[in-house]
Amino acid sequence: MGSISERIDRILEIFPERRWYRALTPFERLVSTILSQNTSREATIKGFENLRKRFKVIPEVLAEAKVEEIKECIKPSGLYNIKAPRIREVARIILEEYGGDLNSLSRLDLDTARERLLKIPGVGFKTADVFLSVVLGRGSFPVDTHIGRVAKRWKMVRSNAGYEETRLAFEAILPRGKRRRVHLALIEFGREICRARGPRCEMCPVFGVCEWEGKRGI
Ligand code: SF4
Repeated sequence: MGSISERIDRILEIFPERRWYRALTPFERLVSTILSQNTSREATIKGFENLRKRFKVIPEVLAEAKVEEIKECIKPSGLYNIKAPRIREVARIILEEYGGDLNSLSRLDLDTARERLLKIPGVGFKTADVFLSVVLGRGSFPVDTHIGRVAKRWKMVRSNAGYEETRLAFEAILPRGKRRRVHLALIEFGREICRARGPRCEMCPVFGVCEWEGKRGI
């Protein structure tokens, strides 16, 4: 059970896919991914729900909304001075360049779709990959803070590896059809077991093969 693929299969057994996301439109998912930058899941949901109470979350409406009103709604998600104008700008671009319909990205090959998303201000690697993977079901492997930490502890990547190095390390060993499931399961594993502080090594399913010097003995 030493290889990374075997560890991942073990994690998938412990964290099988649930109905993680309720049905959001692609645009709603993009907005919620922007809100999730540098904040917790709970804070993301609170900001998104506020926004949805105040506005119809569609490009036509948010492109015309007042930034101050968007800010007021998304305060619980943090960094609202940055995220509010970003959301309005994204709405405007989606409207002007995609006719308000992000599903058109599904028709492009993966690299082109990723490049297009990365051109949108405020859409970085993680936001683009979450969108491609979770919303459009494409093969991108998004790396969040939990996944980045696990990859380093498992010595998959260097201790100072950045986003792209980690993404490519996972994509090299995961078939496309499996990436979304592994992404979601590893986030849960990092949140609940391989935590940043106080990892719960005593209950870790891959304890015996983890090479991290800081792991806590049983
Ligand atoms: S043994 Fe500890 S550090 Fe290693 S993967 Fe498990 S929880 Fe993380």
